[in-house]
Amino acid sequence: MKPFVRFAPSPTGELHLGGARTALFNFLFAKSKEGKFLLRIEDTDSERSKKKFTDQICDSLSWLGLEWDDELVFQSKRNSIYKHSIKTLLNTGNAYRCFASKKELDEIRQKSSSYHYPGIWRYKEKQEINRELETGKPYTIRLKTSNEGETQFDDIIYGSISINNSEIDDFIIARSDGSPVYNLTNVIDDKDMGITHVIRGEDHISNTAKQIMIYNAFGWEVPFFAHLPMILGEDKKRLSKRHGATGLQVYRDEGYQPEALLNHLALLGWNPGDEEEIMTISQLISKYDLSQVQKKGAVFDYKKLNWISSQHLSNQKNINILNNIRSIDSKWGKEKTDDFCLQVLELMKPRSFSLINIIEQSGYFFHESVEFNEKVVKKIWKNDAPKIAKNLVKLLSDLNHWDADDLEIHLKTFIEKNQLGYGKTMKVVRLALCGNVNGPSLFDILELLGKISSINRLNNAITNF
Ligand code: GLU
Repeated sequence: MKPFVRFAPSPTGELHLGGARTALFNFLFAKSKEGKFLLRIEDTDSERSKKKFTDQICDSLSWLGLEWDDELVFQSKRNSIYKHSIKTLLNTGNAYRCFASKKELDEIRQKSSSYHYPGIWRYKEKQEINRELETGKPYTIRLKTSNEGETQFDDIIYGSISINNSEIDDFIIARSDGSPVYNLTNVIDDKDMGITHVIRGEDHISNTAKQIMIYNAFGWEVPFFAHLPMILGEDKKRLSKRHGATGLQVYRDEGYQPEALLNHLALLGWNPGDEEEIMTISQLISKYDLSQVQKKGAVFDYKKLNWISSQHLSNQKNINILNNIRSIDSKWGKEKTDDFCLQVLELMKPRSFSLINIIEQSGYFFHESVEFNEKVVKKIWKNDAPKIAKNLVKLLSDLNHWDADDLEIHLKTFIEKNQLGYGKTMKVVRLALCGNVNGPSLFDILELLGKISSINRLNNAITNF
């Protein structure tokens, strides 16, 4: 059986990490089994649902590369289908109209600690119901549920879960304004879309028994369920806005690439069981196994994201990194040729964790007037530093051949001959060239900057410090 799964967000807020992980697990499951990944926007709450959130959800999924199959389904466009289904349940006697007023229900509620609708209208005579109908009195529609036995399902992740039917009353499936409730629309749509596996956050476990009762009332086959563990922040508390769990575009703006973010999200609650944690989307698809997902909450942490992201950058083609950087900063490196930019990326990518991180650390390659870190200048540019720089200018000026290997030999010989400290001398050069004391191999930097620029920068430092 080829599975059909769906991601069904409510557009009452932005897509954040939790939602993206649910979408990803659905996507991986579908793609690993040649099934379909569908997208449904659950926008029946017209007051809280906003188009801007639908747009943000769709844009974020597309940015992540989680393209959905078939057309987007909007619940708000399916009202007539829900109405029809409610009628069916009424006609088959699986649901009934309840004319109990709010006041009446409040009184019942006050009398008992655990509120259960006692089925007042379930057993009323037809005539009485018709009388109320004729007066135009508002009513809700409730599902006839059983008080006996239990509702059980085998969750793919949590195992067997059962709920005593006595815990669930004849719950409302349509409000007094005729609008269907979430549990009903969710079931009708899953059935209509041919969903075979419902994969969603574990916060929905509590809805599942009611939904199974609705499937049974319609006489429909119940799909498989897989509830995903919570995502926790670094403090092991449920991920929330406090942890910066905001819209996904935040990660794009911070310069993380979709593959890295997907890789980290995939490992939240799942791992392929081998040592290798760095995976492309196609590797994730081929290794993914829903039954390996753990029950325990999984921690999202930036340290891990940065590590995964740096690994992806290292594995990525420079031209792709360049294109991705230009998509967030169209002017990056435009002072030089693209070929020069590609060489900068070759040096920067093994030591960077995001596109923004590369942009922020690579300014000196493109600008002759380097920004200096004053504290570092004070620490490094003292005693014989200017003299070392002057002698180096002399040495470098005399060189005809300019490549990293040769430069390394010349500099090392210079250091030995003058009995200088290696680290100290390198820091002096690095400071003059880059404005700081860390970065890629200094010999590579010298080669890429070229003779004229390297010497200019040393001279600038000599005159300015
Ligand atoms: N619309 C629900 C939500 O955003 C999801 C329902 C489901 O996946 O079954 O939480």
